[in-house]
Amino acid sequence: MKQRRAIVIGAGLGGLALSLRLAAQGWQVTVCEQGPTPGGKMNVFEKDGYRFDTGPSLVTMPEIFEELFAVAGSRLADHVSLERIAPHANYIYPDGTKFVHSTSLPDWLSTVRNLDRRDIDGFWRFLGLGARLYELSRETFLARSPYEKPEFGQLRALRHLPVRYGWGNYNRTIEAHFHSPHLQQLYNRYPTYVGSSPYRAPATLAVIPYIEHAFGGWYFKGGLYTLVRALTALLSTHNVEVLTSSQVVHIIERSGKVEGVQLSGGRTLAADIVAMNGDASAVPQLLGRSGPSPIPQKDRSLSGLVFLVGLNKKLPDLQHHNVFFSSNYSREFSQLFDEQRFPDDPTVYVNIPSRTDPTVAPPNGETLFIMANAPAVEGAQWDGTATEQAWTNVYDRLLSSGFPRLEGLIAFREAWTPARFAERYAMPGGAIYGMASHGWKSAFFRPANRDRSIRGLYYVGGSSHPGGGTPMVLLSAKITSRMIAGDGYA
Ligand SMILES: Cc1cc2nc3c(=O)[nH]c(=O)nc-3n(C[C@H](O)[C@H](O)[C@H](O)COP(=O)(O)OP(=O)(O)OC[C@H]3O[C@@H](n4cnc5c(N)ncnc54)[C@H](O)[C@@H]3O)c2cc1C
Repeated sequence: MKQRRAIVIGAGLGGLALSLRLAAQGWQVTVCEQGPTPGGKMNVFEKDGYRFDTGPSLVTMPEIFEELFAVAGSRLADHVSLERIAPHANYIYPDGTKFVHSTSLPDWLSTVRNLDRRDIDGFWRFLGLGARLYELSRETFLARSPYEKPEFGQLRALRHLPVRYGWGNYNRTIEAHFHSPHLQQLYNRYPTYVGSSPYRAPATLAVIPYIEHAFGGWYFKGGLYTLVRALTALLSTHNVEVLTSSQVVHIIERSGKVEGVQLSGGRTLAADIVAMNGDASAVPQLLGRSGPSPIPQKDRSLSGLVFLVGLNKKLPDLQHHNVFFSSNYSREFSQLFDEQRFPDDPTVYVNIPSRTDPTVAPPNGETLFIMANAPAVEGAQWDGTATEQAWTNVYDRLLSSGFPRLEGLIAFREAWTPARFAERYAMPGGAIYGMASHGWKSAFFRPANRDRSIRGLYYVGGSSHPGGGTPMVLLSAKITSRMIAGDGYA
């Protein structure tokens, strides 16, 4: 019997995971990646003994990663060393308040009590809300495409939806559960995990802090890119071909059915199915259809501005994850989404993997991944002047929050601007998560995993269902591969 042939456009995490699942189903798979290396946003930068992840720095729900390797008859633990980062993160506020966020309940309850003892009750209710949302979405939103018919058991689960807060506004839900302004700001940060504003997102995103609390924050020793290296090695043992520097410029379709793709050099590859792992909104253009530009500006998720700093000094007072909050959170999000400009006082996340993993920096150095949210504006000028101005805003926030001065200690500093993200990964304006999850419709009804008009065309990854972030992207691959298996290509 002729082996069925699949093309995956993009070697992001979702594209690699789908390829592995399809290969395990007996498909002959080719992945076409426009960039020089696989991994997509989960990528790596190495210089002078410093190794940085350029994208994700935290993973959660490790069993989803384990399940992926098991599909291919392998064990995650044989390829990467998964480490829990505990306590979870350092939070530093402009008024000098500092505390450690722990996923250990006794430790965290004691911190909450010190901040405002009334918030113990609010915390339990909020965690309960997240838990119920998670239990509900486990068999529905996280396991199926939004356009598949729900099963009876799933409809029954809807009875348990906490209606009062579940469909409300995220920030208002936070204010209804917490008195402490510090806890309000901490919990309001979670919608940024999917590139969204807490002031516009639905309360259903309360599931994100629940997942982090319940499953913990994890790291792969040697950096998160070790996962991509392990996956690509596994793919090659399953005869999956990963073509880098191979941009797909056209999806070939005839009579409502895909036939293959064309690469930028003119080469064509025939296929029974094509799965888009790049931004879903680029598909109409790849099909040669004219229309509005991908994802209108107002609907885009956040981009990021990242500085990778190789430091010639140890920073023992800092942890693996550190968050330095801005002085006015609602103003910061108004600048990001209403004014669409880089905030003058940004909240700054400083990830220092070398605090727990000495293999990623020289003996007396640290690897600093310094990130602030930025708007995803098409064609925004991120020249040297704009990047330096943004660095000044970031550094000022750090210094006024007690961060050590870095002058004379920086071996090198490398900037990843929204424009660089946009170009490197073909993301509109550098929007990391495709569409923002603003309002429950855009949070729930993202581009589906199967095209509704073209047979053989599928979607996988953060811009499609169920959304961005590494575990979600792996679930997207699981949903898409299950739909392909059920679509009768045998
Ligand atoms: C700075 C940053 C920090 C992040 N932090 C976290 C975190 O801490 N935790 C977490 O879980 N997630 C985080 N994320 C998000 C996470 O990285 C993504 O959600 C996930 O990696 C996206 O995977 P994906 O499958 O959607 O593919 P992507 O990574 O989007 O890859 C898609 C690939 O498709 C390629 N492509 C696009 N068009 C074409 C074409 N026409 N032809 C060929 N190739 C094409 C692109 O070059 C790209 O390599 C972060 C992302 C960034 C950028």
